[in-house]
Amino acid sequence: MTTDRTGGPSRAGSLPLVASELAFDFTNTTSDRGGPNQLEHLREGRDVVIWARHAKVISDSDRDAALAALAGDEALAARLLAEALDLRDTIYRIGAALSRRQPPAEEDRTRLASVHAHCLSCAKLSPYGDGFVWRWDSKQNLSEAIRGPIALSALTVLTQQNLARIKQCEGDHCGWLFFDTTKNRLRRWCEMSVCGNRAKVRAFRQRHFEAKTVG
Ligand SMILES: [Zn+2]
Repeated sequence: MTTDRTGGPSRAGSLPLVASELAFDFTNTTSDRGGPNQLEHLREGRDVVIWARHAKVISDSDRDAALAALAGDEALAARLLAEALDLRDTIYRIGAALSRRQPPAEEDRTRLASVHAHCLSCAKLSPYGDGFVWRWDSKQNLSEAIRGPIALSALTVLTQQNLARIKQCEGDHCGWLFFDTTKNRLRRWCEMSVCGNRAKVRAFRQRHFEAKTVG
């Protein structure tokens, strides 16, 4: 399992949801992948459930039932985590490639499509407002109830959205993905108040240093 090198508690239930797309919010449950400051917020099965409630993928009662089920079933918890991380990292690789304007690997596209097909096989098309939505029974199919809406979100972006709006935060040790919904498409940061400000401070220090060395 990937560890949080800072040793802090998981923030699965409070992470900022700033990606404008569920699928990318899901990829943002870790940062600085493979780097010295990697933070991992999905460390056990329960973190996946807690994040899913936080992102409104499941209801409060779904969460409570799922946490109770996981507490008594280590194999279920381990499978939930493994399947969630597999989907998350597949979507991340696709999104990161597209943010660099590169084609995603065929292996990842196939993987995403197959998770989607599998999850849909246990979903029901249910009336919602004037239309219909896919619904999962999390008590029967917990992993699919969480991965289904996330895979669908990723596929909706890939098939219906402007891929030039997929971006990766330029902040150091970040790597978060987001869908840029701004009018001018100039968004550069996951959060201006975090990575944007750090970059400003760095640029200021750099200018200050250069002014001193030149002067
Ligand atoms: Zn960032």
